[in-house]
Amino acid sequence: MKYHDSETAKEVAGRVESFMDEVVIPREREALETGERITTGEIEDLWEQAKDRDLFAPQVPEEYGGQGLDFSDMLPSFEQVGRSLIGALAIRANAPQEGNMHTLEMVGTEAQKEEYLQPLVQGEISSAFAMTEPKQGGGSDPKMLQSTAVKDGDEWIVNAHKWWTSDGLNADFYLVMARTDLDAHPYEGTSIILVPRDADGVEVVRNIPHLGGHGITEREGGHAEVKFDDVRVPVENTIGEAGQGFQVAQMRLGGGRLTHCMRYSGMAERSLEIAKAYLQEREAFGTTLEEKQALRHRIADAETHLHAARTMVRHAARELDESDARIEVAMSKVFTANVTQETIDLALQCCGGNGIGKDLPIAHFYEAVRAFRIVDGADEVHRRSIARWAFEDVDETEIENTLQFDDDLRIDALEQ
Ligand SMILES: Cc1cc2nc3c(=O)[nH]c(=O)nc-3n(C[C@H](O)[C@H](O)[C@H](O)COP(=O)(O)OP(=O)(O)OC[C@H]3O[C@@H](n4cnc5c(N)ncnc54)[C@H](O)[C@@H]3O)c2cc1C
Repeated sequence: MKYHDSETAKEVAGRVESFMDEVVIPREREALETGERITTGEIEDLWEQAKDRDLFAPQVPEEYGGQGLDFSDMLPSFEQVGRSLIGALAIRANAPQEGNMHTLEMVGTEAQKEEYLQPLVQGEISSAFAMTEPKQGGGSDPKMLQSTAVKDGDEWIVNAHKWWTSDGLNADFYLVMARTDLDAHPYEGTSIILVPRDADGVEVVRNIPHLGGHGITEREGGHAEVKFDDVRVPVENTIGEAGQGFQVAQMRLGGGRLTHCMRYSGMAERSLEIAKAYLQEREAFGTTLEEKQALRHRIADAETHLHAARTMVRHAARELDESDARIEVAMSKVFTANVTQETIDLALQCCGGNGIGKDLPIAHFYEAVRAFRIVDGADEVHRRSIARWAFEDVDETEIENTLQFDDDLRIDALEQ
């Protein structure tokens, strides 16, 4: 499908596609077939190759070692990397690192950028974003945050119990969301504090067993449960202004949700490619499966829905380059999460037993995509925001007209 992406976006994405097809996907296939994990050294080698091809960290400004693309221009490249289980990792555009880089770049101080952003982009260190807490703490409703950071002289004392912290096993530092003013509304009294992993009182409790996690790389960051017990860090470790944690998180999550949409669209696209190739070759009941109308219609629907999702994400990316685009991002997130899940499920079905088998990446994509309807805000939470927006501008006359209309309908229905 052709999109009106900019010339820059298309040119970079073309080179990313070649890198995926020539280097990354063959290495992924080999790992799936042999079961031999891709080593950290190999990933670093992929980074070097990505740098040689000017593809490394497309989302990061050039001064920090990336390619300096905005959301619209990085979009087709992110779709391309989504086609491989290790694609985003191979060019350092993987979550949550990419979102954390964006956060530090947006609101980090010069000292924070030098100490944390530069080495984070280069892959010398790793990071995690710690917002979600076990019940009854912050989850779908982040106002319920229970973590605290209390100022003591020129230090914060952080007490927090977090879980589902992606890449939390390997992180060298955590961006911890904590209440810093208990008298204020959480939207005005919450801050994000950078906590180094080696600070006293940080305990990585466990990797939470979960659906997904392809296990083809040697170093998996997992989704960790982490405790912070009277951890002291300098107040300079505040990310953005104290009390502005929700505003910073919103900036981070807006972009993060959209880049997730881009990568998951790539997964769905590749799953469909594999399924179509299978249907063209495989015969049953006297014809190839490609000729079965029952399957053809479902493939047609999947292509249509995926195209709609990719178009919607493009619109949201353009808006996000100009504003916070909250509703556009919410709509794209909930729609893309559902469409990519349905598409990958169909692709799996089309491949029969091969779809369930893990010689192909589809089963891994299938496991990965399920979390997308929960992570970064569950479907229902985004629908809640969209519905609030939808009802915001309804004026009295519209309400009266609607009620009148509904009454008419009801009378019609009773009379029939
Ligand atoms: C793979 C994975 C990676 C993650 N990575 C991170 C990370 O790096 N950092 C981090 O901080 N968190 C992370 N999370 C946590 C994630 O953001 C939360 O799981 C999510 O926000 C939901 O919160 P919860 O699990 O507490 O669910 P709950 O808040 O308990 O909600 C449970 C369910 O209730 C429903 N629901 C909620 N609100 C409403 C409503 N208003 N109306 C109707 N239904 C509703 C939804 O279906 C929801 O799934 C990750 C989660 C997963 C699965």
